[in-house]
Amino acid sequence: MRILVSNDDGVYSPGIATLAEVASEFGTVRVVAPDAERSSMGHAITASRPLSYRPTRIAGNISAYRVNGTPADCVSLGAYHWDKVDLVLSGLNMGLNLGNSLWHSGTLAAAKQAALLGLRGVALSAPAGIEPNFDRYKPWIRRVMQTLIHDAVVPLVNVNFPREPRGLLWTRTSVRRYDGLVVPTTDPQGRELYWFTVTPIDGADEGTDRWAVEQNWISLTPLRLDLTDEQQLDTARERWPLDEATASLVSPPQSSAEAAKVVIEDESPTTIAKIVSTGHGG
Ligand code: MN
Repeated sequence: MRILVSNDDGVYSPGIATLAEVASEFGTVRVVAPDAERSSMGHAITASRPLSYRPTRIAGNISAYRVNGTPADCVSLGAYHWDKVDLVLSGLNMGLNLGNSLWHSGTLAAAKQAALLGLRGVALSAPAGIEPNFDRYKPWIRRVMQTLIHDAVVPLVNVNFPREPRGLLWTRTSVRRYDGLVVPTTDPQGRELYWFTVTPIDGADEGTDRWAVEQNWISLTPLRLDLTDEQQLDTARERWPLDEATASLVSPPQSSAEAAKVVIEDESPTTIAKIVSTGHGG
């Protein structure tokens, strides 16, 4: 089994070494991760400059590469350079990724990028408020691996570890309230500056990721890439019908190749669209 390991804390983070070490009990491991910390950049990709992919050394004598790009870039380049990756792990992040933070998390983005590529992705995050010695999490990482490794039914999972784990729970994402807070300040010249900070959220619902970690359970949340709100979609179609009736008469269920090509051109710069459509990509 080929296991690609990435993160957003950077290739030299102690968390990625710990995760890679446990993963190597389950298969062949290769680490491909950012050359510096890229936390909180979400699912950004680097499309405006070329990227480098260079071998490097990390703790534990595990094959490792550093990339001057984002977590999502690392997974793309890792899968490009290594055929038939079976599983992508991201972490072990220094800091939990619960609820709303999934929109910002670079750790989760690496796992999401795996899912976008048709691979399985697992993001793993540990508390930021502890000593960065992740050895005591190894038995728990092992159990998470044992749970997820053979189960292709769960292609994308977000895992969070509490300080003192007592077991594992399946959870859903907690999205009660946004936790971003802007704090104004000034520089030495008196000019305005702003810190973007995270404020604590209290009161998590039972069964959510945040509630599980508060109760010292390891939280495993299965995620999907399709963000469509099916319930709202049904409601909107029923209450405020648009031109669906006309569309069903004049638009075939399958678009023509020509129509599809035009939209691809409108999504990307022409040069990229040409490379993709002629198959001369790498
Ligand atoms: Mn991070």
